[in-house]
Amino acid sequence: MTAFRAPTREMAFTLQNVAGFSEMAKACGYEDASEDVVAAILEEAARFAGSVIAPTNVTGDQTGVRLDSNHNVVTPDGFREAYQQYAESGWASLQFDPEFGGQGLPFSLAIPVQEMWHAANMAWGLCPLLSQGAVEALSENASDLLKQQMLPKMISGQWTGTMNLTEPQSGSDLSGIRTQARPDGDVYRIKGQKIFITWGEHDMAENIIHLVLARLPDAPPGVKGISLFAVPKYLPNASGEPGERNDCQAVSLEHKLGIHASPTCVMSFGDNEGAIGYLVGEENRGLACMFTMMNNARLTVGLQGVSISERAYQQARDYTLERTQGTAPGEQGVSPIIKHPDVRRMLMIMRTLTEAARGLAYTGCVAVDYANAENLPDDIRARYKRRVDLLTPLVKGWCTEIAQEVTSLGIQCYGGMGFIEETGAAQHYRDARILPIYEGTNGIQALDLIGRKTVRDQGRAMAELIDDMRPLTGPLQSNYVLTAARQAKFDQALACLEDATRVVLERSDDDQFTGAVAFDYLMLSSTVTAGWLMLKAATAAANDHAEQGTFAANKLATTNFFIDYILPRCSAHLSAIRSGDDAIMALPETEF
Ligand SMILES: Cc1cc2nc3c(=O)[nH]c(=O)nc-3n(C[C@H](O)[C@H](O)[C@H](O)COP(=O)(O)OP(=O)(O)OC[C@H]3O[C@@H](n4cnc5c(N)ncnc54)[C@H](O)[C@@H]3O)c2cc1C
Repeated sequence: MTAFRAPTREMAFTLQNVAGFSEMAKACGYEDASEDVVAAILEEAARFAGSVIAPTNVTGDQTGVRLDSNHNVVTPDGFREAYQQYAESGWASLQFDPEFGGQGLPFSLAIPVQEMWHAANMAWGLCPLLSQGAVEALSENASDLLKQQMLPKMISGQWTGTMNLTEPQSGSDLSGIRTQARPDGDVYRIKGQKIFITWGEHDMAENIIHLVLARLPDAPPGVKGISLFAVPKYLPNASGEPGERNDCQAVSLEHKLGIHASPTCVMSFGDNEGAIGYLVGEENRGLACMFTMMNNARLTVGLQGVSISERAYQQARDYTLERTQGTAPGEQGVSPIIKHPDVRRMLMIMRTLTEAARGLAYTGCVAVDYANAENLPDDIRARYKRRVDLLTPLVKGWCTEIAQEVTSLGIQCYGGMGFIEETGAAQHYRDARILPIYEGTNGIQALDLIGRKTVRDQGRAMAELIDDMRPLTGPLQSNYVLTAARQAKFDQALACLEDATRVVLERSDDDQFTGAVAFDYLMLSSTVTAGWLMLKAATAAANDHAEQGTFAANKLATTNFFIDYILPRCSAHLSAIRSGDDAIMALPETEF
């Protein structure tokens, strides 16, 4: 078992030089978020993540959570204390509106900070992740009264938030939601059951605000008849403090493959007179409101992929430096296994994918800040909004897919000991496995990218992204020397994306085709974009950090590795897209 040390230098570098944080901060009016302030925040967060949160990770996994006979969830030792310190230190409020007690810093500055929470303990980090999404949804859609009542408590971390969409018959397809909402004066009475609700009940905060999707009695069928409600665990009393217990509770907890310390609750609303809920946004417009939360959570679930990959990489690196076996080429006597080329191959894949995924996630989140900046002209904001919409499925989909590869290689680096729970490598692998599933499976992300984000705007947002990437296909004016061979590889990958986009647009009327190629299109566009960001990183390291020789040299090594070993995956994705649905649909259902 190893400690977690947040790679603050790499994070700050990626935020500034790959995602362009300082430029964004200047353009969007965040004068206070100087490089020094960013560096200080990251260092303090790293200390908190390493010393307070990380020590709860293994014990949390081993102990798990339990539901007592009064339907209260008991969290593992140290969780509650870590959460209280987190809230008291102001970590919950970084990016939120000062009007409600927030610190008014950019969203993208909260991202490396949150990366550290998830790397330290992903199960614990899910509680702030969902609360942040709930704050976003309420800030954008709730009435002023509801905002005044709920946001200050949630932004301070005193109250947490949840997201209640899923029902047994309604997962990826939310049109089948059956939970009912009956108007009752100024409020609504909610009745129904939700499953898989993350942190739906717990003992870390004094109140929980559940954001619940439900149907009004006269609602039209399907997704156009879904409304959103804020349903507090305790109803706020006249002074705004938690008062009477609402008619909702956790009735059981799921036993899971990973994230054992995150309570995944079956929630029952309205076993008696009906849980009191407050309408958020307009009636029957609930799904659109919930998307504020879901889009935010999709980016941060992608970020969890970066976090768990970083943790798995650090652990594998430390082990391979210590473990000795055999004699490595050119060595004498027994060698640490890190000297074996095949172990190096695994570590390079792990490190390179993690760095690239971090670049992609941070870039998506900086685009969110641009899109939200009210001081910018509308056309610029609209362009960034298109970029955010396009990058969201890439961040969610690719960063969580690479986490599967990285955490699996993490086990492989350990050999047999990786399969044994006590080393901790297995926990990362188990924990990571949920990432491609929740917040919309990666299959659904792929359909979102191809349908809503590419076909619907006739490839406009993708064309803008490709245009931004194209300058790198010319000779680089930089200290970073991209060899002609590597230049050709990047050109080829970009051409694959252009080709694939053309094919997708040409066959956009054929649902079976787009459904069959969507995942490859998601992986292709993400891999090219991540490659572009790695090139940006190597260029910036060579130019701006020339004095910091080792850092620039390392960045050059991982970038070259990405181009040589990861980017060629693009050709395979294009080949799959060109084959279309024929091969995938060749077997009839009855032959499976
Ligand atoms: C640990 C955990 C925590 C969760 N937390 C929350 C939470 O806090 N709040 C909440 O509301 N939900 C939560 N969920 C639910 C989660 O979001 C759903 O499990 C997920 O969206 C998938 O829905 P499903 O399980 O019903 O699978 P299904 O929808 O049945 O999907 C099964 C498979 O079919 C594929 N599929 C389905 N429809 C299509 C389609 N149209 N096209 C192509 N492929 C398709 C899927 O990609 C998947 O591979 C959580 C789940 C877990 C396991």
